[in-house]
Amino acid sequence: MKKLIGIFAMALMALFAPAPAHADPPKLKVVTTTVLFEDLANKIGGERVEVKHVASPKFNVHFIQPKPSDVRNVSKADLFIFTGLDLEAWADPLLEAAGKRALFRGGERNVDLSRGIPLLKVPARLDRAEGDLHAYGNPHYTLNPEHLRPMAETLAADFKSADPTGAAEYDANLAKFLSELDSKLAEWRVMAAGLRGKEIVSYHDDIAYLADFAGLKADVFIEPKAGIPPTPKHLQYLEEYLPANGIKVITSPTFYSRATLEGLAKRTGAKAVTVLQNAGELPGTDDVFAFHEHNLRVLSEELK
Ligand SMILES: [Zn+2]
Repeated sequence: MKKLIGIFAMALMALFAPAPAHADPPKLKVVTTTVLFEDLANKIGGERVEVKHVASPKFNVHFIQPKPSDVRNVSKADLFIFTGLDLEAWADPLLEAAGKRALFRGGERNVDLSRGIPLLKVPARLDRAEGDLHAYGNPHYTLNPEHLRPMAETLAADFKSADPTGAAEYDANLAKFLSELDSKLAEWRVMAAGLRGKEIVSYHDDIAYLADFAGLKADVFIEPKAGIPPTPKHLQYLEEYLPANGIKVITSPTFYSRATLEGLAKRTGAKAVTVLQNAGELPGTDDVFAFHEHNLRVLSEELK
């Protein structure tokens, strides 16, 4: 009983305690699908946001299974940031489970970062035949470093709309980010100049936007269709295609079959090279600049 009275007294004191004079404003709670978006949201949101991501970068973002803790985080979130298209097919069920309508696709607190991105490989008609994962066009636009600009601008605009009192801070963070990006892009364009016109084979067609930035040719994939593992017949075709076209580099993120990659590399004399699809896939690549730096560096080293 004494203990209960004590707790009651403490609760009363807390109730009547004056608010601290310089209380920090509550932070915008943000959930992103990926680590890349988490880093970008932290760079643009700064001290005003608290960001959590759903998908571990060690796995294929197409096939993530959100956890109950992700549902809880989304149900408390002010903003949900994702790629859009059909990259995260699990995003809509996650949003529905969390039940906050403003975060649903098309809702006012749903941040679809594909807004303003010039999309590649948009099919003339919607077709999921043979399990195509890219039915709305290629969703891997985050691999072109130039797309960081429209993505950062979308984030700043949506942060300002959700938290207008922080507008000046978001604008300042955006300006700082874009100026750093411009100097990085100048370096990366120099690295990419040596890649122009060269051909590579990628495991999945997550390379389209990086190939577009660097002027690389990448039209043949280890997967015969996005999301479909290679058949023995397709592998046999690749074993002839690579040497016949002088292809020296096979690219893949870390989460596809190493045995398939190494086997094909061994039989064709090409080299299997890790080109990241997700920021954070390898240690030290959580940062969006480090992520692009890694990809451009390995390609320019291997395609000298
Ligand atoms: Zn894909």
